[in-house]
Amino acid sequence: MAANRRRDTGPELRLRSELHRTGLRFRVDMPIEVPGRRPIRPDIVFSRLRIAVFVDGCFWHGCPEHGAPPKSNTSYWIPKIAATRDRDRRADRLLAEEGWRVVRIWEHESLDDAVGLVREALGPTSLVASRG
Ligand SMILES: [Zn+2]
Repeated sequence: MAANRRRDTGPELRLRSELHRTGLRFRVDMPIEVPGRRPIRPDIVFSRLRIAVFVDGCFWHGCPEHGAPPKSNTSYWIPKIAATRDRDRRADRLLAEEGWRVVRIWEHESLDDAVGLVREALGPTSLVASRG
């Protein structure tokens, strides 16, 4: 659904700029092929290291802190958010099976924390500039 996969949202853009500023190179909007499914499109991809980063919106992805659905129309929102979460878990599993490491970052996380999570996944290589 287009609404969940909106690109270039604020938090994602800020994270990309910061990673880029610190010398990291990555792909944006790179589809990852998985068997028997439509390709998965993480927000940020380090293809050589096989690391896929998603920046998840608190509302659509059901963040435990801010993901509470609106009080009205719950029969509409609750299944919709649950379906997004299911799709996220399925994507995580499929990517893991293909040898990818998945990093999920909530949009509410600070830029420092988000960069920290990515660098942790990248490991010591992130100290030298990674070229894609
Ligand atoms: Zn949140």
